[in-house]
Amino acid sequence: MTGKIIVIGGGIGGLCAAIALRRAGIQVVVYEQAEQFSEIGAGIQVWVKGMQALRLLGVADAVRAAGAEVHQHQFFNADGVPLYSADLAALARDTGAPAPVMIARSALIDALATGIDADESVRFGHRVSAVQQSDDKVRVEFAGGGSDEADLVVAADGINSTVRRLLFPAARIRTASYRYVRSLVEHPAPFGNKVFAMFFGRGNRIAVGDCGDGALYWLVGLKRPTVDLGGAPEVLKADLLRRFETFPEGIGSVIEATPADSLIHHTVRDLQPIETWGRGRVFLLGDAAHATTPNLGRGSGVAMADAVVLADLLGATDLTDAGQLATVLEAYSRSRTPEAHALQRTSWRIGNITSWDNAVMTHARDLMMRTVVGRRQVAEIGEQFVQAAALQPPGQRWGNVA
Ligand SMILES: Cc1cc2nc3c(=O)[nH]c(=O)nc-3n(C[C@H](O)[C@H](O)[C@H](O)COP(=O)(O)OP(=O)(O)OC[C@H]3O[C@@H](n4cnc5c(N)ncnc54)[C@H](O)[C@@H]3O)c2cc1C
Repeated sequence: MTGKIIVIGGGIGGLCAAIALRRAGIQVVVYEQAEQFSEIGAGIQVWVKGMQALRLLGVADAVRAAGAEVHQHQFFNADGVPLYSADLAALARDTGAPAPVMIARSALIDALATGIDADESVRFGHRVSAVQQSDDKVRVEFAGGGSDEADLVVAADGINSTVRRLLFPAARIRTASYRYVRSLVEHPAPFGNKVFAMFFGRGNRIAVGDCGDGALYWLVGLKRPTVDLGGAPEVLKADLLRRFETFPEGIGSVIEATPADSLIHHTVRDLQPIETWGRGRVFLLGDAAHATTPNLGRGSGVAMADAVVLADLLGATDLTDAGQLATVLEAYSRSRTPEAHALQRTSWRIGNITSWDNAVMTHARDLMMRTVVGRRQVAEIGEQFVQAAALQPPGQRWGNVA
């Protein structure tokens, strides 16, 4: 297949797009604004569908080796009373889908970079400031001067995407009513190896996940933060220790062991759903197209699956032909938007419910989680494994590359 594609952004989505496009036989250049891979943000869960996409891209083993499989999801109230749990190891065994993986973000990026020749394909220190389309080409311009041209641009430049703002200036970003604090710490897993455990209190929730090799990823949701964004990290840490002091044993010790200056404190946002992920010779992928609130830990998996589907469609396309690109854009959007938009909606709703701080409402919520909602959640997780096992490039042109 001839033709050249520029990928904007060397994050999770951009790297997966580059790997997938290269596997489809397309020439790819990635432009990343940072001077080097610079993924921060503690850890990340790569959900089952993401792992299946990475399996198709040939990098699942590298990711698994750099993190830890998640074998159990366990949910509790603030007193440690079990609400529901899911046996992910059994689901993986029964369906043939890969178990999710918990991993440090920097390790995930390094593992993804093994899938391409990063030295050759990734140009660091290039911030794209403008994109100009003509009938048969698209040109990107860089903030520091200079430009490059290709048949197609895939913009994977994240929730604040410059390219999306140029294409869809009206697409809004909304901010949730709660904040997150996250970190990664060297600490034994207090709730078991390969376990992701989450505890719901009144307005305060905390999750702890084992990343393997003695590293733990933890994150906190705060309905009523009292420490300013950018406030002193020691004050934030003291506030967290106070908020979670009555939670089950092990939580305080994880927070205590975490260096205050490693705390990442931020607002939580998502993007208004966009129906068609691009225009002409510019397509969107990952958070640039469908950023979601992170309450289900699945956003990156959607970006990974975007990459698989898009590359498979483009692999059979004459990139110089605007008509064929229009057909691909339509097929790509139709294939990917149902899952992405459903995740945006569900994650927003779950974020609100798990942030409730009213005593009566949280009591009712916990009761529902122990019964009907918990059963529904477990069934939905099982369905995710079944769907993941079925995820193949639509045309299956790559064959089995696991
Ligand atoms: C708090 C939080 C927790 C999360 N937890 C999970 C989780 O557990 N599991 C999960 O699956 N997902 C999770 N997510 C979502 C996940 O982080 C995103 O879905 C994923 O990072 C999207 O990748 P991306 O490549 O599309 O965007 P980004 O990761 O934002 O990458 C964009 C890249 O583009 C570069 N860039 C930006 N603008 C330009 C420009 N103009 N020119 C050149 N380069 C540019 C940036 O430097 C960056 O490298 C979480 C998100 C948040 C906020």
